[in-house]
Amino acid sequence: MNTKLKIFSTVVVLSLSAKAQQVSTTMPYQDDKFACVTSQDADRYVNDFGVNVPSFGGRELCDSKVEFKKLMNDFSLIEKGQFTTGQIGTSQNVFIKDFIPAHQYYSWMKSQTRGVERGNDVPYATAYNSGGYFTMQDGWAKLSTLGRVGTVVHEARHTAGYTHIPCTQGTYQGYNLNGCDSTYNYGGSHAIEMEYYARVSVLGINFHPVYKKMARLMAIGRSNIFFNKPVIQKKESVMALSMDRQTAFVLTDNNQWVSKETPKVAGHLKRTSFGAVIFDLQKAFAIDPYQNSGFSDVVEDVYSYFKLLGETQAGLKDLEEYDQGVKRYVTKISSDDQIANFDFPNGAWGNSYKLPFVVAATTTAVPSQPAIGYFLIQSTGVVSQYQPQTGRLNTLNTKWDFSNQKVILLNNETLVLKNNGEIKKWNSETSQVPWALAANLGLVSDLVSIPLYDGFKVVVE
Ligand SMILES: [Zn+2]
Repeated sequence: MNTKLKIFSTVVVLSLSAKAQQVSTTMPYQDDKFACVTSQDADRYVNDFGVNVPSFGGRELCDSKVEFKKLMNDFSLIEKGQFTTGQIGTSQNVFIKDFIPAHQYYSWMKSQTRGVERGNDVPYATAYNSGGYFTMQDGWAKLSTLGRVGTVVHEARHTAGYTHIPCTQGTYQGYNLNGCDSTYNYGGSHAIEMEYYARVSVLGINFHPVYKKMARLMAIGRSNIFFNKPVIQKKESVMALSMDRQTAFVLTDNNQWVSKETPKVAGHLKRTSFGAVIFDLQKAFAIDPYQNSGFSDVVEDVYSYFKLLGETQAGLKDLEEYDQGVKRYVTKISSDDQIANFDFPNGAWGNSYKLPFVVAATTTAVPSQPAIGYFLIQSTGVVSQYQPQTGRLNTLNTKWDFSNQKVILLNNETLVLKNNGEIKKWNSETSQVPWALAANLGLVSDLVSIPLYDGFKVVVE
């Protein structure tokens, strides 16, 4: 059996936007915006893919709360999605290799699918493929339209015999779980899924701009851990939030600040594996560092491991996704100072331990420390580094300066956002100077380091 380790999901997208008018030629991205499927189309999809209708709740043509209609929406996105052709794809985007011809997703899917049913007998899988018969599980049902289409495209590739191997990096590193592909060029299920997302973003004609944004975030969030030989290359950058919190600024390669649309929600900036979110201890909303959609719809983060918020009880003090060497960790601290890591092979939070102090703040960087980590700060200023491998705490020989709102590392520089909104370059305890690149940015309300991958271009807008 081929299983797809796309495990932790939650309901994806909230729309706050009444002005999200869709161009008539654009397909919707939210299930409840899809028109009823015609009886003829439904019959055709059921026949083409061998759909077990009763297992999806019965033949419902209009109400997308019924899972049969969700599956119909998936097939219609696959059948009706259009892509431009030409050089732009293969020459300019690292994900687009023409593994699947862009105009043949529907016929290819049909040829690789013997049957589709709904079940939930493999607890850690979103969906799985057994000899061309797909079982869509609870994880699939909870996904967005984009996530569900990505899942069925992924599963279809397994029919031709492409399988996964253990991961040498990422959240599954060190476990004997077949979750990764060796390389992108292997053209396995992960690559086929990423190629779809990239085409939607770069070449898509009639996809909703928010669907395209979701495709970029999904491609970056997943491709940076599911290939043992990386397909995308990372550069460190910075995101800053304007004083009025209306705009996020991203620093480009040539030291230019470009503005990115920002969810109008409360919370703090956090680094994620695709970029950054605004996190309020209950939900995390994505900021796309690459391209604006033109829509103010807020997009909940189901792309980095902040999606674990969907599996997490209320009462958090902090949650952090961070890398230590090649391994990625997700650690939470509850409001009563219990700390726990997510146990990825078991698909659940691991044992929690009571910390021997009250955590006043956390940071992933500390002045004078050369590397990022997960640091816990007491109200006295004592700083301890948490070691996720062992659960140990190492007390540092330094005190936290509470006039620092954020501390980040940018390549070899330590940058400090002071409580008054100034960004300083930290040289030593006694030498902190205004950061030259912040000169034309002015005061900011928040600051975070972000990864920028070469999977997509940072559009100047
Ligand atoms: Zn798979």
